[in-house]
Amino acid sequence: MVENNTDNSGLVDFHCHLDLYPDHEQAVQQAESAGIFTLAVTTTPRAWPRNHELAQKTKYVRAALGLHPQLVAEHEAEIAIWDNYLSETRYVGEVGLDAGPRFYKSIDAQKRVFRHVLQRCSEAGDKILSVHSIRASKLVLDFVEELMPPGKGKVVLHWFTGTKKEVQRAIKLGCYFSVNSTMLANERHLSMVMDIPLERILTETDGPFTKTVGRPSVPSDVAYTIDRLGRLHKKQPAEFASIIRANLRELLIVN
Ligand SMILES: [Zn+2]
Repeated sequence: MVENNTDNSGLVDFHCHLDLYPDHEQAVQQAESAGIFTLAVTTTPRAWPRNHELAQKTKYVRAALGLHPQLVAEHEAEIAIWDNYLSETRYVGEVGLDAGPRFYKSIDAQKRVFRHVLQRCSEAGDKILSVHSIRASKLVLDFVEELMPPGKGKVVLHWFTGTKKEVQRAIKLGCYFSVNSTMLANERHLSMVMDIPLERILTETDGPFTKTVGRPSVPSDVAYTIDRLGRLHKKQPAEFASIIRANLRELLIVN
């Protein structure tokens, strides 16, 4: 339950782990009945069949096929399962690189997996990827530049925390950015977010990993991010929400 009375339908949560809430099916239903365009990312390809099955019955929820960089140390072999499902979806995520202290030891395996993912997606064409880049913004952009040039697929940088220069580089590479409320609470990240051109911004929650009013965020909580970003850009929430919606439509256009 969001603690406001506004109609949140038509908002966008482009990165949420619906299968990690206590009741997966209910989480999907809530996003659907709230009318939030939700990208249900997954952390292992083993989660794909169930996510796909639930999302297929909805108008607003789409499932993405993932292999999370933080799981690659133990689950690299599952890339074979990921391969088997790729033709069933246009959406891929969560994928990417994590060079933070806890996961740096698997960075070579992560690079193998991410390179493979980008190559396969480029060959297939027209995939949309939600990409993780903790402490690895430069590396991720190097990989995207090499393996997923514009026209081969689209990259949405999830919770990007690179430098302003890297934002400019990502924009030239055609990337979008999905922004959550936790990012806006950090001064450096906020100032980077303000450098993202309005036509490249999407919203996300990364629920249940972020919190809103003290509980795990749910897709309709993107309303808070819309409200905050709208104010920073001197726009009414409804106007800002329609910008995000237009960005989503643009992202989804088949090349
Ligand atoms: Zn995530």
